[in-house]
Amino acid sequence: MNDYIYKRYRYYFFLIFILSKKGATVVEKIVEILSKESYTQEDLSYLIGLEGSDRDFYLKEIGKSYINTLGKKVYFRGLIEFSNYCTKDCYYCGIRKSNTHTERYDIDDEAILEAAVFAHQNRYGSLVLQSGERNDKPFTDRITRLLKEIKTVTNGELGITISLGEQSEEIYREWFEAGAHRYLLRIETSNEDLYYKIHPRDEAHDFHRRLECLRTLKKVGYQTGTGVMIGLPFQTYEQLAADLLFFQRIDVDMIGMGPFIEHTETPLYQYKDQLWPLQRRFEVAINMIATLRLLLPDINIAAATALQAIDPMGREKALRYGANVIMPNITPTLHRKDYQLYENKPCTDEGADECANCLSIRVEMAGREIGYNEWGDSQHFFKRTSSKQ
Ligand code: SAH
Repeated sequence: MNDYIYKRYRYYFFLIFILSKKGATVVEKIVEILSKESYTQEDLSYLIGLEGSDRDFYLKEIGKSYINTLGKKVYFRGLIEFSNYCTKDCYYCGIRKSNTHTERYDIDDEAILEAAVFAHQNRYGSLVLQSGERNDKPFTDRITRLLKEIKTVTNGELGITISLGEQSEEIYREWFEAGAHRYLLRIETSNEDLYYKIHPRDEAHDFHRRLECLRTLKKVGYQTGTGVMIGLPFQTYEQLAADLLFFQRIDVDMIGMGPFIEHTETPLYQYKDQLWPLQRRFEVAINMIATLRLLLPDINIAAATALQAIDPMGREKALRYGANVIMPNITPTLHRKDYQLYENKPCTDEGADECANCLSIRVEMAGREIGYNEWGDSQHFFKRTSSKQ
């Protein structure tokens, strides 16, 4: 047992002793769970559902202990949402192909490269390229070309994450060789029944294919990320706890997860009256991030933009309680309003410069430091790959 863990246990035993004198039952239970070495679905679901002052106590504990293991650094990834053309029809998403009310756009290569240079010059360290999902050859070829060009114009110094949906192993490999080294593909929910309540049940939206893609991404050599939406219609704390155990089981390197926010032009909008109130979805999302940090101390966790759509300080709260990656939006402003996955999306009307300034101040307010010019790779990735050699 290393010194830090020893101190942590000693601290929890001390807390249990004090609390047993006071008879504070919920806090006692939290402390009891925190002092365990492994967690059951029931433990996790209990933590995810916490409310009020018990929740405050829990979040503070996580905030304190995670700095001891991961440190204060958080990493920037400049996010470019370069196109909202999508071949999929997910029931929650504002850019689904059947939504005829959204204006479709595709940012040209030159503007994407300019945004990459902006990220590099502003010492962001990394970039995320995201778009709707397409599998046609002109699209996949274009991405390969773009990845190589981004590496060239930034002297190979900018790390590249991509989030471009389900593709064949061949394409994942081609993009990896062209320079992308991290891939984000959210499973959306690890519960198969719920998955088919939020997606059409057809070949284009096959749950097992998505799982297979995650396995392939790891095999190809990417730092692999996934994630879920929190507060979906019909979703329970138990299912969310199972999502966290799923992340542990598939041995992910990074997670991006945030609250579900209903969009009027999507089928799931019909359930809007059955959802948890927005504020509760936000709280549960933060509880999920904190609980994931407890379960997987060395992975990268992103503070999702959707958090900020509910609470103006949403992403900073996530940084305080477990997240260590933040993604300033550097999509050229003209098109930002059209990448509306959900309504009330923040920062759709400010330029990249303003976004960068406001974020650095916000990160400092959350008591964290920005790892300028660093790729900020997942520590977990190096542990899992070196242990196999
Ligand atoms: N084409 C990529 C990325 C798609 S959009 C892919 O298929 O993986 C990125 C993420 O936005 C989705 O994975 C989903 O989790 C999230 N998202 C979509 N609609 C949302 C909504 N209404 N509320 C919250 N998050 C949403």
